[in-house]
Amino acid sequence: MKKIAIFGSTGSIGSSLLNIIKKDKKNFEIELLTANKNYKKLIKQAKFFNAKNIIIADNNSFLITTKILKNTKIKVYKNFDSLSRIFNTKKKINYSMCAISGFQGLKPTLDIIKYTETIAIANKESIICGWNLIKQDLKKYKTNFIPVDSEHFSIWALINNSKRNNFEKIYITASGGPFRNLSLKEFYNISIKDALKHPNWSMGKKITIDSATMMNKVFEIIEAKKIFDLNYNQLEILIHPKSYLHAIVKFNNGLSKLLVHDTDMTIPIFNSIYFNKNIKSKKIDIKILNNLDLKKIDTVRFPVIKIIKKMSKKDSLFETIIVSANDKLVNLFLNNKIRFTDISKILLKISDTVEFKKFKSIKPRNIDQINKLADYVSLKIDSMSV
Ligand code: NDP
Repeated sequence: MKKIAIFGSTGSIGSSLLNIIKKDKKNFEIELLTANKNYKKLIKQAKFFNAKNIIIADNNSFLITTKILKNTKIKVYKNFDSLSRIFNTKKKINYSMCAISGFQGLKPTLDIIKYTETIAIANKESIICGWNLIKQDLKKYKTNFIPVDSEHFSIWALINNSKRNNFEKIYITASGGPFRNLSLKEFYNISIKDALKHPNWSMGKKITIDSATMMNKVFEIIEAKKIFDLNYNQLEILIHPKSYLHAIVKFNNGLSKLLVHDTDMTIPIFNSIYFNKNIKSKKIDIKILNNLDLKKIDTVRFPVIKIIKKMSKKDSLFETIIVSANDKLVNLFLNNKIRFTDISKILLKISDTVEFKKFKSIKPRNIDQINKLADYVSLKIDSMSV
């Protein structure tokens, strides 16, 4: 029996993982499921999978959930500080999936490392803002790490523990999102509905908007730099409209390896839990290799790509500024407060602001420092005129 915890079980990644487990239920013990507000879905999941514990962060949803589950064995908690009451460092669980969206994912990611043998991280924001803290704890608690984002999962599988100086370059692909071919003058009028229509992937709202602005690729480049300990000039984005090819690793010995799989997050999720096991998953039709159609990315269409060149070479708090600013701007866009084009305009402005640029030389020390800075950036954006 594999003992597991899923942070963000009601979301797109969390639910996909539970759908995989559903077919193999007898081999899993669900120690913990978590959500923010969606108590109906969380309760349904907890009952179906006999989860032992659940955490529901939103206060009102927590109160409703405790009432509904009063006469059951499921223990209900309100925040991630309760992990120490649920888990034990001497008897680690086998696997944890970190799939909370946005910035809020960092705390639980850091908190669970000591209680789990393997941590699979989908939440890119926590890797981008807190990688030096995550890496330190992975080492300290001897916890294995698997990246879940499809590009990073592919690189991880391709590199297979080879040393950083064994490869020259890594390419990650981007579908180009819903606006790959939109005329530039139409960008100004992009609606929320248009931006939420991704041509290839079905994902949560925040990451779908990030895919439309291409900020998602900026994040993926930063994420890859950190996870695989690379320089930014070793990483490049290629537009690949069909999204079958996820990454290419160009090794120094003349070999290049590439990884293809269906445009379905179930595959990296499935392999993060069953890696190297001969269990059946979806197969790809190899004919897709006839038409990879790779192109360079256009920075006029997607101006946020310029942010990559502005990033610090070392782990710094500047990453938190970019992530929290983007979180806030996506939220404002989804609430009809700013235009789609304002997201990139304001992000570029922020990345050139002297007040923020000085954070490029400050290394993150702890989560409080990261959270405080994120709150400050959010307030600063509220006071900025668009
Ligand atoms: P969703 O928006 O679908 O789900 C987010 C989950 O996090 C939900 O369970 C949500 O609970 C919970 N949550 C949100 N805010 C909070 C909070 N403040 N406190 C506690 N829980 C919270 O996101 P996705 O599944 O799409 O993405 C999850 C992460 O994985 C993101 O970081 C994303 O960038 C990354 N990722 C996603 C991919 C995808 O295909 N979806 C691909 C690669 C990476 P509730 O339901 O109650 O709101």
